[in-house]
Amino acid sequence: MTLPRWLADEMVGRLARYLRFVGCDTEYARGLPDEEIVERARREDRVLLTRDRALAARCPGSLLLTSPNLEDQWRTVRAAYPELPTTVAFRRCTECNGRLEPFTPAPGAPRDERIPWDRVAGGLPLYRCANCGHVYWEGTHTAGIRDRLRAWTPGAPG
Ligand SMILES: [Zn+2]
Repeated sequence: MTLPRWLADEMVGRLARYLRFVGCDTEYARGLPDEEIVERARREDRVLLTRDRALAARCPGSLLLTSPNLEDQWRTVRAAYPELPTTVAFRRCTECNGRLEPFTPAPGAPRDERIPWDRVAGGLPLYRCANCGHVYWEGTHTAGIRDRLRAWTPGAPG
């Protein structure tokens, strides 16, 4: 079984971010009427993730998440799709789902103060979203996410 592409409705936005953290193509349907969500899932061949029982019933192949708790939702997705990755992968922008690409800043270009340039000079790779330009790197933020993913999936590599 290969992993599907996902469409998360607005009640599971945090789950959508975690799916992007592990590299999954996950669109986030915000402010759309139900019929447009159903149509988008069909048109783009995505599995809908929703907490809305009626919406799930209208959308073939969708995954209903009954719990409001992020960890429970994650476990539900993994139970249905055991091949779901469990570690951070720099492949998808958590802001917009754009593709991440290796990023080498041009010499002399204006420098984003948030990026740890001393570590970049020491070989830390940077990734940039091809869509919105957001830059990512391995840091304290990703360490926290890795810890959480590991706690959610005992025995999984990470
Ligand atoms: Zn982006």
